[in-house]
Amino acid sequence: MQDSECITTLKILIVGESGVGKSSLLLRFTDDTFDPEQSATIGVDFKVKTFTVEGNCTKLAIWDTAGQERFRTLTPSYYRGGQGVIMVYDVTNRHTFSKLDMWLSEVDTYATKPNLVRMLVGNKIDKPGREVSREEGLAFARRHAMLFIEASAKTQDGVQCAFEELVQKILQTPGLWEV
Ligand code: GDP
Ligand code: MG
Repeated sequence: MQDSECITTLKILIVGESGVGKSSLLLRFTDDTFDPEQSATIGVDFKVKTFTVEGNCTKLAIWDTAGQERFRTLTPSYYRGGQGVIMVYDVTNRHTFSKLDMWLSEVDTYATKPNLVRMLVGNKIDKPGREVSREEGLAFARRHAMLFIEASAKTQDGVQCAFEELVQKILQTPGLWEV
């Protein structure tokens, strides 16, 4: 499908602690690849993908932190104009789950669209040694009115679905995007 047939361009952000798999989820979604040696410091910073949900062609501009989250130096421009945010934790690392409140307040502080759609993703479900149950993730998401899915960038479980539900919700939210 031609880009010109897309109804809109959407800005999607990916946030979460270093090492949770943000870049891996992005590369799984855009290039359908997984690199076990993916470096937590060298990220991807930006990817564009044409994505069709329920017959609506959208162009997604997906921003990755490129490792900057380690230094707490994500700038307001990272968040500016974002219509959707994917907040990632690692289900095998409780610390990354306990930092979600911090990420939520960061999004609240910098997001310029107050009704942006937030999706919580519990990543690495393929990995042994789970520390955060599905129920805990779901409860957190419900408490904060977020969409929720568990995923694995390695096996691709849930990855496509996460983006699908996020984009679907954005398109259903009045005033969040323009033709
Ligand atoms: P980021 O810092 O959040 O961007 O995390 P990365 O995408 O760089 O991933 C950090 C490490 O976790 C890398 O070694 C990845 O290969 C690994 N990783 C990412 N996603 C998964 C997953 O779903 N399952 C497993 N087993 N490892 C993953
Ligand atoms: Mg990264």
